[in-house]
Amino acid sequence: MNFNFTEKQQRVADQAKMIAQTLNLDDLTQRDLAGTFSKPLFRQLINQGIGNWLLPISMKGDNLNALELTAGIESLAEQCEDSGLVFALSAHLCACVHPIRAFASDQQQAQWLPKITSEAWLGTHAITESQAGSDIYAMTTRAERSTQGFVLNGHKEYITNAPAADFVVVHLRTEDRDNYFDYSTFILDSHECGVSISKTPHNKSGLRTTAMGDIYFDNCLLPESALIGRLGAGAPIFQVSMEWERVCLFALYLGQMKRQLQKTARYISERNQFDAPLSSYQSIQHQLCDMYLNYESSRLLLYKAAWSLDKGDVSGVASSLAKITVSQSAISNGQTAVQLHGAKGVLSGDIERMLRDAMPSAIFSGTTNVLKNNISSTLIKRLKAQWI
Ligand SMILES: Cc1cc2nc3c(=O)[nH]c(=O)nc-3n(C[C@H](O)[C@H](O)[C@H](O)COP(=O)(O)OP(=O)(O)OC[C@H]3O[C@@H](n4cnc5c(N)ncnc54)[C@H](O)[C@@H]3O)c2cc1C
Repeated sequence: MNFNFTEKQQRVADQAKMIAQTLNLDDLTQRDLAGTFSKPLFRQLINQGIGNWLLPISMKGDNLNALELTAGIESLAEQCEDSGLVFALSAHLCACVHPIRAFASDQQQAQWLPKITSEAWLGTHAITESQAGSDIYAMTTRAERSTQGFVLNGHKEYITNAPAADFVVVHLRTEDRDNYFDYSTFILDSHECGVSISKTPHNKSGLRTTAMGDIYFDNCLLPESALIGRLGAGAPIFQVSMEWERVCLFALYLGQMKRQLQKTARYISERNQFDAPLSSYQSIQHQLCDMYLNYESSRLLLYKAAWSLDKGDVSGVASSLAKITVSQSAISNGQTAVQLHGAKGVLSGDIERMLRDAMPSAIFSGTTNVLKNNISSTLIKRLKAQWI
């Protein structure tokens, strides 16, 4: 076993660090308060090389695998204080660009990938509906076959990047047979006739510098060429996208936790109370150690899950274990960091923002409860089959 980065993983991490250091985040506090996503900063990330990360080799791209993408996102998030920006980018890469690379036809790739890379088109990935949150297969938004292709009707909610998006990857119901093959995946321009997107982002507590909105389909007519993969292949495509999110996107929180540890260690070493630095008190030392333990155990599980994903494991077990642990750790470390900074930690700024940015991590890409349900049912089957 070797825990060192490969040459390519290191190169991607170094590239991400270098790109992050070019970002001007002077207005981050104002954008966080106002809840504003910065498209110029997103474009800067894409134009400086991140646009190439998932591009196939045939298009002269870097064709990163899950481990390499995890290394890149972790490094970017460690250097970039704007976790909302990294979240917007990671959702775009994992749930919009990856499915195109993995499942779209050559013609679809030729149609979409150049715009996504050269013109920095931003993607949004829509599945959730008002009555279909955790119970995603209860979705009612549908695509009906017509003589010219498909007609879409319905409404998607809580969609990351939607208000600023240039294109949409959407999962819809195409059958009512009550099985896994009732769903299909489509790709479309966000300005397509019959599509409307809420322009005012939802006013959420965390990840405020990512825009979240709703998408409405009203007799939106799409050609056959908008279907990704086969008719009825939406559920497996969605499942793979979620695997990539639960693994690679969550590297954002590894980077954030590392940053938080550095700031907290510095603060408790510099702050004196009762004539001694806070770091001299054992209970404070234990709190810092617990933060580090959370970070290290999250990192091990997440990189193990990325390794499993690259080996073709899409069972959801490794990714869910990692996602549950990373999100719990990010929330817990966020609370400890605020506590250790005292009143300064509560004032508006980077320390309390990291806690707010961690809060939704236990909800998106599968809630902790639901992932635990899934892990347990797979575990029971595996234990019965003595495969564990
Ligand atoms: C920041 C953020 C970004 C998001 N981005 C996107 C996006 O880009 N695209 C998209 O499609 N969606 C997105 N979502 C939506 C997200 O996928 C849903 O919020 C999530 O699936 C949970 O659905 P829900 O909010 O309806 O909660 P519900 O499903 O109503 O769950 C509420 C609570 O009940 C629990 N629960 C539900 N069912 C069970 C059960 N069977 N057993 C035990 N507990 C249960 C849940 O764990 C949760 O704690 C985003 C959400 C957030 C917060």
